[in-house]
Amino acid sequence: MDMKATAARTTEVETQHFDVVIVGAGISGVGGAYHLTKQCPDKSFVVLESQDDFGGTWLTHRYPGIRSDSDLYTFGYRFKPWTSAPIATAAEIRKYMGEVIAENDLGRHIRYRHRISSASWSSERKCWTVDATRTDTGEAIRFTANFLWMCQGYYRHSEGYTPQWPGMDRFKGRVVHPQTWPEDLEIAGKRVVVIGSGATAATLVPAIASDCAHVTLLQRSPTFFITGRNANELADMLRELDIPEEWVHEIVRRKILKDQANFTRRSFEEPEKVKQELLSAVRAYLGPDFDVDKHFTPSYRPWRQRIAFIPDGDLFRGIRDGKASVLTDEIEAFTETGLLLKSGATLDADIIVTATGFNLNVLGDIAFTVDGRPLAFSDTVTYRGAMFTGVPNMAWVFGYFRASWTLRADLIADFVCRLLKHMDTRGAVSVTPTLREADEGMHLSPWVDPENFNPGYLMRGLDLLPKQGDRPPWQHAQDYWTEKDELPVADLDDGALVYE
Ligand SMILES: Cc1cc2nc3c(=O)[nH]c(=O)nc-3n(C[C@H](O)[C@H](O)[C@H](O)COP(=O)(O)OP(=O)(O)OC[C@H]3O[C@@H](n4cnc5c(N)ncnc54)[C@H](O)[C@@H]3O)c2cc1C
Repeated sequence: MDMKATAARTTEVETQHFDVVIVGAGISGVGGAYHLTKQCPDKSFVVLESQDDFGGTWLTHRYPGIRSDSDLYTFGYRFKPWTSAPIATAAEIRKYMGEVIAENDLGRHIRYRHRISSASWSSERKCWTVDATRTDTGEAIRFTANFLWMCQGYYRHSEGYTPQWPGMDRFKGRVVHPQTWPEDLEIAGKRVVVIGSGATAATLVPAIASDCAHVTLLQRSPTFFITGRNANELADMLRELDIPEEWVHEIVRRKILKDQANFTRRSFEEPEKVKQELLSAVRAYLGPDFDVDKHFTPSYRPWRQRIAFIPDGDLFRGIRDGKASVLTDEIEAFTETGLLLKSGATLDADIIVTATGFNLNVLGDIAFTVDGRPLAFSDTVTYRGAMFTGVPNMAWVFGYFRASWTLRADLIADFVCRLLKHMDTRGAVSVTPTLREADEGMHLSPWVDPENFNPGYLMRGLDLLPKQGDRPPWQHAQDYWTEKDELPVADLDDGALVYE
């Protein structure tokens, strides 16, 4: 047990105190633990995780074919080289995270099966009280912490989002959400329909195409995809030259980030050209007779929603080979044997997979209070997309949409460690983002601009998320290339952070 953690028995529950409580042992929480040990070695901390292992997203999702759609040179941490093919399976990502935990002795800080239900800030005691329940024993456990580092992701892990369609209860087959994929699901010889057109559907369809009788991807509207080899030529070449893996990681990261910045810029400046490039890659797989306009041409400009990477065009090859098909239509109702579509067509199925997304979950379904008052995050304004007005000593890791999540997890970790050290230097015990006099009455807008980026899970939950203002530091750039320069030098004494 950590030497600096003090334990005190009360009549009700045991209370343990740490300088920092990190919520979640996904890629952000494990990264946070690493940075804290390196940058603030004197701080005591614990990582509380409700599941029985680390991994977060990469543990929860167990559907066939589960893989990243970002390259691991940038989805991996900046401090630990990625040495395999860029697109990785969930198992490979967990192995990598496991190595980070083992190599840095982080395991002793992580408590699994601890579900946090509430967190209360006391201005009098200048600390958070965090109440958790052991998911295996039901035991209540209490922690107090000076600082709360929220690494709980952005969606509810226990269940995915499934819209309700008329007649769902009539369907005689099985309805499955990819987030809770049943271990016993037998697909051999079955007709499977996958509803959805996002990264999950695009991964799942080729992964099961050879094993089931037939799989149909049923989408309401098409999505952009980007195809390419699951290899990185630069990395392969550097390895041939015996360049050390640390260098390969850094050089390839920089190259990928430069290419991505270029792609993002082009998708705003010349969206039509980018669109045609993406579509011609799809046409190259599917041939001239396939109706790419209908099935793979979205109505929005590229990058308004995340663009999934299709390694080696596996989705399109499945369709070309007849093992999979794509239908663009809407569901009217479920029937006993499958689906009735708005066009009047019917689609028979034994298994219907609802790859329809997530339930946005603002800050881990934890009931927050500040001095006894329930906290509605939608009433707060974000400080650089990492902290919230009126909420002391708390940071949240929310990654990028258009770049790998972990790039931001690393940046926020640096920021939190810098802030903790700054507080120590100032002799401060609390820090609260607070609108300055000149900021009062500024125009507030949603957490993300729906015109800029608008996937369904965000739009469904936008009213739950904090607001952003019309000027720094009350904005949330969602842009790695801006933040990588701004965050490390953000002025911690600009008056927006109030210390006590
Ligand atoms: C299928 C899928 C594929 C994805 N692919 C990519 C990709 O390729 N690239 C990319 O950049 N992003 C991707 N994402 C987004 C992805 O979620 C993030 O990139 C990243 O893995 C999130 O890491 P995290 O640690 O912040 O959160 P999570 O992975 O969500 O982990 C949060 C952890 O916190 C725990 N937790 C939550 N609430 C509580 C509580 N109250 N008490 C205790 N513990 C709690 C959860 O159990 C979980 O283990 C993908 C998402 C999904 C669902």
